[in-house]
Amino acid sequence: MSYRGRFAPSPTGLLHPGSLVAAVGSWLCARHAGGQWLLRMEDIDPPREVPGSAAAILGALPALGLIADEPVVQQSSRIAAYDAAFEQLRDADRVFPCWCSRSDLVASGGMHHGGQCIAPRDASREPAWRIRVPTETIAFVDELQGPQQQDLRDAVGDFVIRRVEGFYSYQLACVVDDAWQGITQVVRGSDLLDSTPRQIWLQRCLGLPTPRYLHLPLVLDSEGRKLSKSEGSREINPHDPMPSLRHALTFLGITPDEMAIHPSELLDAALASFDPHRLTHCSDTVPLNLV
Ligand code: GLU
Repeated sequence: MSYRGRFAPSPTGLLHPGSLVAAVGSWLCARHAGGQWLLRMEDIDPPREVPGSAAAILGALPALGLIADEPVVQQSSRIAAYDAAFEQLRDADRVFPCWCSRSDLVASGGMHHGGQCIAPRDASREPAWRIRVPTETIAFVDELQGPQQQDLRDAVGDFVIRRVEGFYSYQLACVVDDAWQGITQVVRGSDLLDSTPRQIWLQRCLGLPTPRYLHLPLVLDSEGRKLSKSEGSREINPHDPMPSLRHALTFLGITPDEMAIHPSELLDAALASFDPHRLTHCSDTVPLNLV
């Protein structure tokens, strides 16, 4: 199967140096493999959405020389597909309604749901829906971080795939769309490394293929914290894209071509010397709940 990669930002703020590394890293891997690079706007969490940020991100990417091979997929237009996946899971008795609050879970001894609800059924309000996790360990080999494994029951418990408000979770929507877009390799930041076992479990429950995964090191701030859009970290200036692009390439271990004047020249020069096996390894950013 030919390579299909993607960049899947959430519209929770403007593009920042951390998300640009994921965009550039996924673009380089796709182009290096002679494959396609797709874009997906993960706009299914209205309470977290920052108005205007989806348009700003989609406007900034071409200015950075990052041009998708197919029209952008907007998750907000894909709800029928998530409904169908949800019904498939419900019909297979993989999910259960849950009225437990966070404080119910804390009172019962932890943040994870162990399969037994504390709160009773309550026909007067909508439940969240949780998927049952297996007792087996989910293992996979990350193409950069090496072998990973996670016991979902210990690490996350039965997790929510549809929230009380009716919104589908990132995990469910991501898995449905990676399969629908035919993604063969997911390249993204290692803040999502510990989501991958949940996504693999959902793929198995839905009978979907598992793509290959490569998690890039995280760009940290001077105090060692993850840069995040929602914390308003330094934004990329689409009118002066070269410094940000040079920074992203340097972070990925590529020496930027000093002679390049335009973003596309800089990216093409980077691609000529790019070797995915020489990307920086990042064992120090592996989330703690991976065992
Ligand atoms: N939308 C997610 C984010 O911006 C990334 C999803 C993914 O790459 O799987 O953090």
